[in-house]
Amino acid sequence: MNVPPSSAQILLREADRCVLCGMCLPHCPTYQRTGNEAESPRGRIALAQALARGQLPVDDSLSAHLDHCLGCRACEAMCPSEVRYGLILGHARRLLTEQRALPLAGRAAMGLLSRPAFLRTAVRLGASPLATLATPFSPTATRLTALAKARPQHPLGPRESAGRPRRGRVGLFLGCTGEAVDSEALAATEYVLAALGFDVERPSAQVCCGAIHHTQGNRAGFERLAYNNLAAFDLQRLDAVVSVASGCTAMLREFGQWLEAPQAAAFSASVSEITGFLAGLDWADAPVVAPLPATAAVHVPCTQVNVLCQPDTTGVVLAHIPALERVALPDNHTCCGAAGLHMLQEPATAEALREAKLDALVASGARYLVTTNIGCALHLAAGARERGLAVEVIHPVTLLARQLALAAKPL
Ligand code: SF4
Ligand code: SF4
Repeated sequence: MNVPPSSAQILLREADRCVLCGMCLPHCPTYQRTGNEAESPRGRIALAQALARGQLPVDDSLSAHLDHCLGCRACEAMCPSEVRYGLILGHARRLLTEQRALPLAGRAAMGLLSRPAFLRTAVRLGASPLATLATPFSPTATRLTALAKARPQHPLGPRESAGRPRRGRVGLFLGCTGEAVDSEALAATEYVLAALGFDVERPSAQVCCGAIHHTQGNRAGFERLAYNNLAAFDLQRLDAVVSVASGCTAMLREFGQWLEAPQAAAFSASVSEITGFLAGLDWADAPVVAPLPATAAVHVPCTQVNVLCQPDTTGVVLAHIPALERVALPDNHTCCGAAGLHMLQEPATAEALREAKLDALVASGARYLVTTNIGCALHLAAGARERGLAVEVIHPVTLLARQLALAAKPL
């Protein structure tokens, strides 16, 4: 019988490929901030090796250096030896979690995200004066609510797609957070896909992608959610699975790497992030899009750049909106600090990284800040509101759907 390799074995095999060249160090936000080798990718790989070999105790120092990692994977994208840092970090966190109690914010977030109805209630509660009673969930709920409060909903109306040639059937991955705080982006995705000739369905048995559980080293929790999702999407009926948030998409695309089930790789291969999906389509017969004379600053999440490797697809989608000027934020190669639960667990670093983004946003004079990841949107919208900026943080497909709907309105 074949025994699958353990986390320690996989970690050590991958870490052995690191040649200690240090080329990744200048690209690591935590190393840039501290200059500390233990806060660098190379240092963390060495710590993970020692952890896997049982050479270091799981104490506060070891835990902190691994916990401080944003998981942005800028180091992986830059590594000339193609060391899969994400694989090393994922297994290191599983080993950590086997030997210590998880931080409170992590446990609270996992509890919320694996129960969508509970999450929606927490977000509503976070918007009310009762929020202070919702501890230990209130910090999470309050931050999730930050975006919900800042976002006016724009009903799109029904999209008449009858008569258009049918292009295929798409299963929409909703994402637990997206459903709770950015349902407009989900509706917009359905609207745009229908306008382009796709039938869209929301498989009802789907659950959270498990990314937060995965980054917390909670293997059992991650696998429970992931296997539910494998069963929820019937690939015999669907031509593709489309996901709206780039963070969820990155996790779904790596199911094949983290699950032993043979169908996991096929599922991962069927998953597209919505801007990547739209950028790959022929738009020759697309409906008219109303112009939008405004400036949109484009924030490209780490998952979009370093995991999905499609840094330009947001710009490609926005280019379908006439008169819209697009300005890339100058430091798009650097994490905004949201980084899953990092904005809750390490607020000082998260806010320092966000400040640079907000400075660039102000300098751009943009009316919109466009991002494909819900976590980044929550974090950036909270910061923009704290500064009193008159900027709407929005998913690019929401902006596109609004302009499609405007053009479709009878005169
Ligand atoms: S992870 Fe890659 S870039 Fe960084 S030190 Fe190792 S081999 Fe060099
Ligand atoms: S994932 Fe990001 S924060 Fe973590 S070591 Fe790599 S570059 Fe640094």
